[in-house]
Amino acid sequence: MTTRSETQTTLDHLLTEIEHRNPAQPEFHQAAHEVLETLAPVIASRPEYAEPGFIERLVEPERQVIFRVPWQDDQGRVHVNRGFRVEFNSALGPYKGGLRFHPSVNLGVIKFLGFEQIFKNALTGLGIGGGKGGSDFDPHGRSDAEVMRFCQSFMTELYRHIGEHTDVPAGDIGVGGREIGYLFGQYRRITNRWEAGVLTGKGAGWGGSLIRPEATGYGNVLFAAAMLRERGEDLEGQTAVVSGSGNVAIYTIEKLTALGANAVTCSDSSGYVVDEKGIDLDLLKQIKEVERGRVDAYAERRGASARFVAGGSVWDVPADLALPSATQNELDEKDAETLIRNGVKAVSEGANMPATLEAVHLLQKAGVAFGPGKAANAGGVAVSALEMAQNHARTSWTSQRVEEELASIMTSIHTTCHDTAERYGAPGDYVTGANIAGFERVADAMLAQGVI
Ligand code: NDP
Repeated sequence: MTTRSETQTTLDHLLTEIEHRNPAQPEFHQAAHEVLETLAPVIASRPEYAEPGFIERLVEPERQVIFRVPWQDDQGRVHVNRGFRVEFNSALGPYKGGLRFHPSVNLGVIKFLGFEQIFKNALTGLGIGGGKGGSDFDPHGRSDAEVMRFCQSFMTELYRHIGEHTDVPAGDIGVGGREIGYLFGQYRRITNRWEAGVLTGKGAGWGGSLIRPEATGYGNVLFAAAMLRERGEDLEGQTAVVSGSGNVAIYTIEKLTALGANAVTCSDSSGYVVDEKGIDLDLLKQIKEVERGRVDAYAERRGASARFVAGGSVWDVPADLALPSATQNELDEKDAETLIRNGVKAVSEGANMPATLEAVHLLQKAGVAFGPGKAANAGGVAVSALEMAQNHARTSWTSQRVEEELASIMTSIHTTCHDTAERYGAPGDYVTGANIAGFERVADAMLAQGVI
């Protein structure tokens, strides 16, 4: 039996090796670091986890696909983007994870997201493996016709790698209902199959699950509420800062408001809005979901209670709760210090890896309840798996049923993370709890299935 400190030394060597083998992928290094720095207690407790080559298999994707995506804009000019699909781990089920369309996408970003997804999907308790994909295509300012041609070209290559029993993509940044529709249409056309379970996040009228659009944001708020309950508090009357103004942010604000909290901010890459009366969701949805506009339009149309701050950090706004819901590394050490100074009680990650490692350490050290994305935002992929189940049975469930299932999954994820952290001597540390609980489930399946 190896000791914890010997195990940690081995893991530190492995992290150095990961950096060498995967150069220029800082986000992937960060995600690997965040997981491996918490696993020493569980690896030290089970010799089979410490077998040479085992963790090395876990950090190496099963398959990585990179492809050319040529498409024509409305003026007939040809553009060439790059497409990615990283099929990271299928020990628990078909690869499952979203597609991101954003100019910052590269292989390292997709690998960080795919790696996180393995543990997140394991935490849901459902039969889904981990994967992620996307492109450096920027949908901002593109017409519907341009987005359609891009999606058709992207799927013309991707279709050969996916399938309802193989790999099931969904949405992420820049990929919402419109894009999933075009992608599904092209898949159906190429394959001549109605294979509803090949993509999730579909429209409710053609195979989509009710509550899927809401699931990530709603789930994150339920996770934050569960963390507060542990401390004898609830959401009623709490002020919350939320970043982003896309799918996750909008439904985070909706659930916060429904449960009696006051969500006072939203943001996009141009800046943020503070609205003392609480964000008016009808107005925000109109601007973001219908007009595809910017958040400054919200402040212009809302009146005296709201102001727009160009640039700046949304984390400067004092609040009891912070729910980062935009993108990775949007909350750094300095932001964490500001949140702590302003008395924040809980931070729950709607986005994937929005807080830097240093910020997480600071928040935890200050006693702030911290919900890591792989647990707190797992509601989205959980309802995606429920969408697959409905597709398989050729049925559709009521909103009430899906919402009850979502609530029960989020409660179970919270309890699992909480209890696992306690079991391994880190009470209240949801990062350790989530990493170890997710790891145990995937690792046991990998061990049972042999060296592949
Ligand atoms: P959307 O595309 O709907 O919204 C993204 C929001 O974040 C927009 O307001 C966008 O502003 C902002 N944003 C994105 N990138 C940046 C950036 N580099 N700098 C500043 N702002 C940025 O995406 P989602 O809401 O679906 O995703 C948000 C986060 O949640 C991501 O981290 C995603 O991985 C994660 N997530 C999403 C799930 C889902 O079900 N959709 C499930 C689990 C996690 P702008 O328009 O100006 O770029």
